[in-house]
Amino acid sequence: TDRLLQKSEKLALLGQMAAGIAHEIRNPLTSIKGFIQLFKAETDKKEYYDVVLSELDRINSIVSEFLLLAKPTAAVFREGNLVQILHDVVTLINTQSAMNNVRITTAVGPNIPPIICEENQLKQVFINLLKNSIEAMPNGGNIYISVQKSQPEEVFIKIVDEGVGIPEERMKTIGEPFYTTKEKGTGLGLMTCFKIIEGHNGKLIFSSEVGVGTTIIIHLPGMTRTHLKKDIDE
Ligand code: ADP
Ligand code: MG
Repeated sequence: TDRLLQKSEKLALLGQMAAGIAHEIRNPLTSIKGFIQLFKAETDKKEYYDVVLSELDRINSIVSEFLLLAKPTAAVFREGNLVQILHDVVTLINTQSAMNNVRITTAVGPNIPPIICEENQLKQVFINLLKNSIEAMPNGGNIYISVQKSQPEEVFIKIVDEGVGIPEERMKTIGEPFYTTKEKGTGLGLMTCFKIIEGHNGKLIFSSEVGVGTTIIIHLPGMTRTHLKKDIDE
């Protein structure tokens, strides 16, 4: 246990440092972006500036995702309503999905127990997963979300897409930092998801078939079980 504690303390310190650095990178980035936009207005080589601007956006999204990952210390766990959280996320992402001809259908089963969660982190997880599903369907398609209560006192969320799928040999790479197949990807989205779900004592499971689609299953402990585990840990 002693060694384990040391390791987690080191990780926390590393996380704080990373968050600090990420903040420091963001400020100059914002000012560089402002200047580039000014210069762009005064030139006929606008396409060069567009390249620079889009690369700056890329750095910014890497830093943002990293920042989110690095500061779970600020997390506040509260009683939350998963159905409401999912509803908020779907509302948020609806414009993007409609633009890509993707339809999101949600089914909610009976007696979903409340969960103990950090709402913003869970929202981030669902946004990342749904974005990936949308991006996996360049010609549009369906995303089916279902929320069920499973025994004992556990919530079970399933996200099914009809996207390109993930090849078998790539499945083990899922969740590794910087693994991306997208030109503008960061490869940090899923790593963040795994980390957040782990922090909720949950499980995140991928299954996929190339050309058919991807299914993501998330298990989250319902409130009573989280409490039980906490009691045992203390
Ligand atoms: P990014 O989206 O920035 O590439 P992620 O960590 O979110 O980074 O995803 C990593 C990679 O996993 C993606 O580039 C993609 O190849 C694959 N992937 C994730 N979700 C899906 C999905 N629903 N369908 C197909 N491939 C996926
Ligand atoms: Mg992603």
